[in-house]
Amino acid sequence: MLLKRPDVRAALQHLEQKFPQQVDEWIRIAQMLGKSTQEEVRGAYVQSQMIRAGLHVSIDSIGNITGVRKGTGGGPTIVFAAHMDIVHASETNLTVDRDGDTLRAPGIFDNSASVANMLAAIRALNAAKVITKGDLVFVATVQEELGLRGMQYWFDHNLKPDLLVAMDGGLGPINYGALGIYWTRYRFTSDGSHTLQSRGKPTPVLAMADAVLRIYELQPPALPNGAVINVGQVHGGAIFNGIPQDLYFTVDLRSSDPVLLDSLDRQIETIVRAAAYRARVGLKIETEQKNRAGGTERMLALARRHPLVQTAIDIQQHLGVRIGMPGAQQALATGSTDANIGVVAGVPSIAIGRSYGGDQHTLNEWAHWPSALEATKLMLLLATTFGDGIQVVRAYVP
Ligand SMILES: [Zn+2]
Repeated sequence: MLLKRPDVRAALQHLEQKFPQQVDEWIRIAQMLGKSTQEEVRGAYVQSQMIRAGLHVSIDSIGNITGVRKGTGGGPTIVFAAHMDIVHASETNLTVDRDGDTLRAPGIFDNSASVANMLAAIRALNAAKVITKGDLVFVATVQEELGLRGMQYWFDHNLKPDLLVAMDGGLGPINYGALGIYWTRYRFTSDGSHTLQSRGKPTPVLAMADAVLRIYELQPPALPNGAVINVGQVHGGAIFNGIPQDLYFTVDLRSSDPVLLDSLDRQIETIVRAAAYRARVGLKIETEQKNRAGGTERMLALARRHPLVQTAIDIQQHLGVRIGMPGAQQALATGSTDANIGVVAGVPSIAIGRSYGGDQHTLNEWAHWPSALEATKLMLLLATTFGDGIQVVRAYVP
């Protein structure tokens, strides 16, 4: 029934007609400065485009751009979020190379595609004069790559929406969960000493070696239902001929199971404290991010049955989105996107993809540009489906 609505059909047609311009805009956005905390250029661009589209636009003090497309009243508030920031250093060459169906550039996939998809969908809704009861709230977020800080800030300063759709990640299974992510820096300190006087003196190196070995012996069950632990940075010492006074290592700990996540976090802390004690060195524990876990597949059984998840799956099937290997899950109880903030806050939330692509967070990042059209249609159909109310709509199933 929804697909028979003339306004919805007109909006989809508009997307198709304007798709070449959408890809051009995507390339332009990808070439703008965008390192986390330096999103101003992208933000100003998105803001100007949202204003031109007639949205009620605001910018908050962390830099998120919010554009509200008002509904007629009485419908749910739906947030669509696309992060603007990229992980690459500001001096990185962001020039986009177009090669057949492929675009190549650092950040082209994660997440410039979604920013362009969002702007294209807003314009299509306008061109087709789609009217919704609920407000459609479009948020271009900042600092996603630093631990979802922009979206967290947004949630801390706005009323909770009824639904949240994050646009991030490759096209594929719908994510309706939240992988918890804890980043901790364990720093050992000592008085130091010249090598010649170092015999028998406390050294942070021993504490670190001891701690890291024991952390790797933890071996929790693997993801998706278990956890993963990675020591990503080891830093310290400056000279050959002395005991380092300061040395640290970092732990990236991830799990969708909040109980397992906290238990591992405590076990790691106990290991590190004991290692510092044995080595007679000082210890400081610094938390970089503590993004909570949404729950295991079993804990999220109810969330999996929410109309938002079911409808997103139906639309993807209707659009012919490839999920992966035959028999692959259509939806997964995990996620590492702005949607995590909603999942943990109890808001029905999903992450949908932006296109096919890969090698994100590397200099070889690439995206398959034709598939951004499907991702944008998916987003637009979610807006039109739920704009009037949260219900199960099976109009997409042939
Ligand atoms: Zn991303």
